[in-house]
Order: sequence, then structure tokens, then C-alpha cells
Amino acid sequence: MALIDVSSDTPITALARVGPKAARDFDKLGIHTVRDLILHFPFRHEDFSRIVPAGKLKIGERATLYCQVMEIKNQRSPRKRRQYSEGLFEDESGSVRAVWFNQPYISKMLRRGDWVYLAGTLEESYFGLHLTNPVFERAEPNEQTLHAGRLVPIYSTRGGLTSRQIRTHIAPCLPLARDFLDSLPAEIRSRNNFPNLSTAIHDIHFPDSYQKLEAARRRLSFDELFRAQLMALAARHKLDRMNAPAVPFDEAATKTFVASLPFSLTTDQRKSAWAILRDMSKPRPMNRLLEGDVGSGKTVVATIAILNAALAGFRTLYLAPTEILATQHANTISRLLKGFPTTIGLLTSSLAKYQGATVTRAELEEKISSGEVTVLIGTHALLEKGSRPANVGLVIVDEQHRFGVEQRQRLRTEKRPLDAARGREKRKELWPHLLSMTATPIPRTLALTVYGDLDISMLRELPSGRIPIVTKLVRESERNKTYSLIRNEINAGRQGFCICPLVSESDKLGVRAATAEFEKLKSIFPDFKLGLLHGKLKSDEKQKVMEEFSSGKINLLVATAVVEVGIDVPNATIMIIEGADRFGLAQLHQFRGRIGRGIHASQVFLFTETDSMESRERLLTFTRTNDGFTLAEHDLKTRGPGQIFGLDQSGFPEFKIANFQNLELLELARLEAENLTKNDPELTNYPALRDQLKIESVKMHLE
Ligand code: ADP
Ligand code: MG
Repeated sequence: MALIDVSSDTPITALARVGPKAARDFDKLGIHTVRDLILHFPFRHEDFSRIVPAGKLKIGERATLYCQVMEIKNQRSPRKRRQYSEGLFEDESGSVRAVWFNQPYISKMLRRGDWVYLAGTLEESYFGLHLTNPVFERAEPNEQTLHAGRLVPIYSTRGGLTSRQIRTHIAPCLPLARDFLDSLPAEIRSRNNFPNLSTAIHDIHFPDSYQKLEAARRRLSFDELFRAQLMALAARHKLDRMNAPAVPFDEAATKTFVASLPFSLTTDQRKSAWAILRDMSKPRPMNRLLEGDVGSGKTVVATIAILNAALAGFRTLYLAPTEILATQHANTISRLLKGFPTTIGLLTSSLAKYQGATVTRAELEEKISSGEVTVLIGTHALLEKGSRPANVGLVIVDEQHRFGVEQRQRLRTEKRPLDAARGREKRKELWPHLLSMTATPIPRTLALTVYGDLDISMLRELPSGRIPIVTKLVRESERNKTYSLIRNEINAGRQGFCICPLVSESDKLGVRAATAEFEKLKSIFPDFKLGLLHGKLKSDEKQKVMEEFSSGKINLLVATAVVEVGIDVPNATIMIIEGADRFGLAQLHQFRGRIGRGIHASQVFLFTETDSMESRERLLTFTRTNDGFTLAEHDLKTRGPGQIFGLDQSGFPEFKIANFQNLELLELARLEAENLTKNDPELTNYPALRDQLKIESVKMHLE
């Protein structure tokens, strides 16, 4: 079928048989033009390529037949009065019956004597031996088919749109892909034996073989990974040409600080602190991610950086995702830095504190602008104008994935030259050093892709003396037994958590809401003091609950996911998680990190109402390991990258086809990207590639 007057920019609505309804469905898929349609890749293929003689078909076997229609008619089932079409088909080897339910038009589409492909599974039922609802396609011998007798592409669809319709629309448009500009440098293509772009696009839809499909997928995945790497390298390159205040390493003070700690640093903490101080001592902005499991001790490492910045005369901005966490950091850091020349300000949308005492926001802002505050800790409120000190040399973003790229950048990219009074710098634009931190263990493939522009330090070893937490998946019948374990712990002076997935009663899915659970547990534990913590409380209420839990007044804290980050109560040793299947493993791991922080043995009990084998299996995986990296790898494999980070992921690369599991391809992409930009960082010799990257990076920032 030749298409006249259609180019890849033609709107999809100009195609034959795309009416307003189909156009709306395409719109939901983000398909507006013929080019979008061509680039709508299938997410898998159905193997209907194996042609089996009708006489050789076995029950339960999935196969394609090539046979002739002997008879086709509409029927009604006697009992259920269901309508169905029934056909008899034959090739030289024998015959087979096929039944289609609720598709009466089929008897009109097929005629006695037609040759057709039928794809499906042979079943035995009330109707005898037959294929049920087989995919069919009329075809002449040796003619290319789209829907059967081949590897058949399966697409994501919306509304009434079917994969079959998408196939029918795409096939005649595919030749247009020959005019697509292939921005991949030819030498990279030939060095890696990649098919050219139009072949790859053809084969990703309608491959002749698995080999061709695989080659196409490899090439198209590489394209995405390669461009992501180029963007990361460009970001690095840009940073390399910017200036930052060199913060000299104050060895004496750092040693005094480390000696003042009630513990000795782990090797990983030492190494990370050293890497950070080395970065900061250079006149180039640091861009480092400190990755460490919950409780691995990132705060102390960050504090070493803060101390050195302060001693060199620079302010630090410390951005935390929640008020609870910001408050806790302010307390911890002022305790750690006691005796050192620093002052701590705390600013959230509802709190302003200076050196631990509540002040008005105006008073705090006054102290900020006069330069009295050396370390300003806070939430999103820090992103607002007027609440930032001059002379910021260090920006720390805790749980950095909770902030969008834009927000993260805003902290450091506002053009605010450091204090002109600082002599020789001569108003040269200086950018602060950036330290990002995350408790999410990010698998290497993901880190390379998502954070290709960052240097990474990892705290893999937990501080010594931690007793591994025991985690159990428990049945509803063990609930009372679990409650008596809680009772025992609390009677022994410990504290506990009960985590619930949602706040209000409004959920229809039977999730135990924290508020309802709170009431219920109050009647189960009338002699204990219970607390309730969720995101909908006012901040002073939250604050109060937190303080009461920290001071041991509250025995059992019922909470939603707000406890995921923050909360350091070493006396807490027991945790129940309701509706555990609703959380990703990485998130469950974060919850679990709230206990086992002290000297007592700790345990977690998971309740779930799900019957899904898959969910139970996932939760069992969680009970078997305490290693966040293993869990993150598992999440990545089974649920994709979104799960690892939780919800909003602004700035996250959306790949059409690449995935994060192919480390080999990812490393190849990295290598080729480094190779290409080594001598040509601006890609002047590769204008097509450069233009494409520009378009994509603009798109990414608009989203
Ligand atoms: P996270 O990495 O989750 O932010 P924190 O910095 O909150 O971890 O540290 C968790 C707890 O471990 C804190 O109470 C902290 O004082 C303690 N800690 C940190 N480093 C060590 C260490 N090297 N040895 C023993 N305890 C440590
Ligand atoms: Mg922390």
C-alpha cells in the first residue's frame, strides 16, 4: 500500500481510517504525527512465526496455521444464548475448528476458499477441540503478513485502539523512516555493527527473525543511552568551566571534630569525607552524590564538609525534604558542631529558629542577611527569595531525589556572586559546591544513567555494633501474637512503630488508615501512650508528636509514610507495617531503617491482605535481606526505576526502549560518549547529534 502525500510531519488525523475517536486515543499515547506513530515502538512481540500443520496441532500449544476456510457461520450457544462464529479450516495435513465469541462480523470477513493465517492455542472445551478467538489474517502465499505468521508486535494502546489497528496504521508508514536523520556517528554504528536507523525502526516493529529484532532493539536502546550519557558529560563539562570558591582543608579542626565524636568513623565515612574535602579544595564546583543506606551515618560526613566551609568563611545551605527531617538535622548538627564557630538557622514554611530558639521569620531573615547564620537548614522555604545568605560556599541536598532538577539547580544557579569583599576573587562569578545525599541505594546501571554527571561516594558499611533487624511476613492469624510481642517490648522500655499506607478512611481498597488504626490500637493497648503522625497534621502538632516520641513519652507511634525519612530514635525496636505490598522494597527498607538504630535487637512484622503470589514473593525477598542494594536491584528488575525512587521523578530520563538492566550496553554508551567528546566537547563535528541533544534537553527541562 503506497501512501501519497504523507510525510512524517503529517498529522495522524490525515491517515485513512483515523477518525476523531482514534485521534483522541492516539493523543493519549502522545501520538500526533506520522513520525510519532513510527516511533511508537512495541513493548513486546508475540511469536506467531512458527507455522504448524493443522493435523499436527497439540492441545495447549500456541501456534500459527496456514489454511483454507472450508466453512464459516454464526451460531448461538443453546444454554447461555451466547453468540459466536464458528469456522472449519483445512490444510493438506488435516483440519481444525475455530470459535470466536461476540465477533459476528468475522463470518462476513472470511469466505469459503480464502487462505488465512490463524494464530492461537488449541483448547478442549464444551465445544470440543478448537482454537478460541484466534488472531487471523487473510493472505496470499509468500505475501508479508502483519498480524499472524510472523513475530507480531504488541503495542501499548488506549481507549478503543487495538494493537491490530496500530499495526495496520504503522506498516504503510514505515518507509518514511528512511528519511529520518540518523544522528548516530557513522563510525560508532559500524564499529558496533549496528543496523542503520531505518532498518532498526523497521525491524523493531516487523522483524523477520529474533536476531533482527534483537539487533534493532540494541541499536535503538544504545541511541537513548548514548544521548543520555552525552548530556551528562555536557553537564560535567559545563561545570568544569565554572568557578567555585576553593575551600582549604582545615586538618587540625577536622581532627579535633572527629576526635570529639562519641564513635570512630567507618572507613567508608573517612573515604567519603576525604573525597568531599578534596573536591571542595578545588576552584571548580563539586558535584558529588553521597549514597548510603539508612543509618550509614551520612550526617556526620556532611557536617565535616560544613565545618570546613565555615572555617573558610563560607555559609552552608542545607535542604531537607520535610520539616521533621530539617528540624532533626538542625538539632543533630548544632550538637555535633558545639564549640566550633558556627551558628545554625532553621527555616521551614512554618518554623524559624536561630540557635535552637524560636524567632520570627523576619528576625531570622535579618540574621541571615547580616551574615550571622553560618548554616541555614530548611525545607522548600529555602528556595524562596530573600531567605538566603550571601557567600554560600556549600549546598547540601538531603534525599535529593525528592526535589526536582529545577529546585536542586535553583539553590546553586541563582546568579549571586560571592561577597565582593573577598579580595582577589574580583567579582568573578562563583558557584557553590554541591553535595547531594540519598539513602536510596541506587544500582550502578541506574546511577550511571541518571546521575552520569555526578561523582559518587558510597557508605556501604554500616557503623559497627548494629544488630541485624529480623523481618517477618506474618499472617492475619498471627496478629494477636504480634501484638503481644509489641506489648513485651514496650513493657521492657522500648518503643515501636505501626506504619499504614494511607491517611484517611476514603480509600476504597481496605487499606488500614492510620487514623482508624490509631483508634483501634488505643483500645488494644489502653495502658500505653500512642501517637499519631501523618502528613496532614499541622506542623506544630507534628513537632509535638515527634518530640514526645523522641523523649520516650509516646510508646507506640502510628504513622504514614512520613516516617520514611528522618526520625532517629535509637530506643525504637519494633515495627508493624500494614498493607506492606503497597510499598516498594526500597521504601520498606527505609521504614525498616527507623528501628535497629540502638543497642537493642529489633524486629519488623509485615502484614498484607494480598493474595498475589508475586507480591508475597516480593515481600519474602524483603524479609531475607537487610542489604539495600540487593533490594534496589530487585525493585529495578521487577518494577522499574520509578519504584526505587518513589513517586515524583522530575527530570528522570524517560526511555522508550532502553532499560536499566543492560550494564554492558550502558557502559558501551558511556565509553563511546567519552570517546566522542574527548576532543570535541561541543560536538562541532556532529551537528545533527548536537541539534538533537539540544532539542531533547529543552524538552526535558520543560517537563
Ligand atoms: P543516615 O545516613 O541515615 O543519615 P545518620 O547520619 O542519621 O544516618 O546516622 C545514624 C546514626 O548513626 C546516628 O545516630 C549517628 O550518630 C550514628 N553514627 C554515625 N556514624 C557512626 C559511626 N561511625 N559509628 C557509630 N555510630 C555512628
Ligand atoms: Mg540522614
